[in-house]
Amino acid sequence: MKIAVIGIGAVGSVIARELKKLNHDTTLFGRTAKEGFTILENGEKHHYPYRIENVHAYEGKTFDLIFIATKATALQTLSRTTPAMSHGNTEIVLCQNGMGFDDFFDSAVPAVVYISGQKHEDMVEHFQDARLLVEDRSYIHLDTLIKDLSQNDEMELEIQKSKNFIRTRYEKLLINLGINSLTALSGNTAKIFDLESVVGVTRALLEEGVAIINQEQTIIDPAFVNTALSVYKSYNREMGTSMYYDVTSGARAEYAFIQKYLHQQKGDLKTPVLDMVVTLLEAYQYER
Ligand code: NDP
Repeated sequence: MKIAVIGIGAVGSVIARELKKLNHDTTLFGRTAKEGFTILENGEKHHYPYRIENVHAYEGKTFDLIFIATKATALQTLSRTTPAMSHGNTEIVLCQNGMGFDDFFDSAVPAVVYISGQKHEDMVEHFQDARLLVEDRSYIHLDTLIKDLSQNDEMELEIQKSKNFIRTRYEKLLINLGINSLTALSGNTAKIFDLESVVGVTRALLEEGVAIINQEQTIIDPAFVNTALSVYKSYNREMGTSMYYDVTSGARAEYAFIQKYLHQQKGDLKTPVLDMVVTLLEAYQYER
């Protein structure tokens, strides 16, 4: 099988490292060409000397499976590049937080990502997990890979089919809605959930999110709000979120695919906290 991994950052380098262990023809792509990447894990650094090609200058073979592990903000641009890398039944696995980008691609396979890491200047720090959840249906190429991954004891990457993928995806969206918004807009790490005022605003924000998602049918149990708040409190107090790191470093944030994605579906619902969060994130991103 011919596999491509595009975006060799925190998530993509773990996927790339794992897929390179298998007996498939795997090509790695970044924004620019370079030699290899380094992962820091369990206190040890390991360099993987795999060539990374420039995805925007690539004129080569087509692929059966393409994993895209860039930020969601790069997807629109990449959707103009992937047709030249695809044949009639290429499957494109989207490894992003957020929603609202599946339609950019002809054959998208959205994945909920459980790979926790952070990209530094010269390496990627992999904290924990190496798991992707996808919809429970049959796939032409991805099924072969799922089987290979499950039969190989050396593999850390798992790709699992979720029985209720819509709910799984919305739950991850809500987890991101709460903690990404509050850490990014306060410019502080998960320790902010020590503050009852922060917990109160986050609860209100999550309740608005649940109401938007459940407008036509109950997809999310309203008790999920308590689960999300407990998850935030269980995080390492110094842990940031990807939106926190984006905002504190002046980078573009993925808010259009998380906060704004929900906001665009609010209909007649009153969502004062989400309105404010979207306004502030929009203002952050304005002319950036
Ligand atoms: P990173 O910023 O660490 O990595 C993104 C990579 O994509 C970078 O190496 C970047 O290169 C590359 N890239 C950017 N634009 C392009 C392009 N046009 N073509 C090819 N490569 C490109 O992001 P993450 O890995 O952290 O995040 C990826 C997705 O996973 C996001 O949606 C995030 O929300 C989600 N996620 C992240 C988690 C985490 O713990 N990090 C956890 C769960 C989900 P360059 O640096 O040169 O710009």
